[in-house]
Amino acid sequence: MRYHNITKDDMLNGDGLRVVLWVAGCEHRCPDCQNPVTWDINGGLEFDESGVQEIFEELNKNYISGVTLSGGDPLHKKNRADTGSFIERTAREFPDKTIWIYTGYEWQDIKDLPFMKYVDVLVDGPFIESQKDNRIPWRGSANQKVIDVKKSLEIGKTVLVMK
Ligand code: SF4
Repeated sequence: MRYHNITKDDMLNGDGLRVVLWVAGCEHRCPDCQNPVTWDINGGLEFDESGVQEIFEELNKNYISGVTLSGGDPLHKKNRADTGSFIERTAREFPDKTIWIYTGYEWQDIKDLPFMKYVDVLVDGPFIESQKDNRIPWRGSANQKVIDVKKSLEIGKTVLVMK
């Protein structure tokens, strides 16, 4: 997997202060995407052990709530294996931190991925400019859902996170 950036002390992409991994590769091509530079699966840098350690260093800080994977799309078909290993390892090493994922896929199409059980919150669906709303937390447009993954998998129904 490749990535463009790791940002720190982020307050916009999930609950609390977070470290955010911006991965490369997205096939959704939403019109008005704010980040088209991230579409190329071959863009950016290799996400190697030094990238993992940069994130883990942040997660070791008490005031960091967790890690968010965004992009690009962490669930691009070519990113799924590496995303899965990374979040599985993160969940094992930092059981008290939360894992959020932003994806352009809809929940029903990706909920059965085997590593989904390690994810706390997933923000799904493409960005739709006509539904853009800056007042709603964590989402770019109103069509996107902020999903409590663990509860949704447990009861077999989509449970939304409310703020
Ligand atoms: S899913 Fe996100 S990164 Fe991909 S095209 Fe849509 S807005 Fe851009």
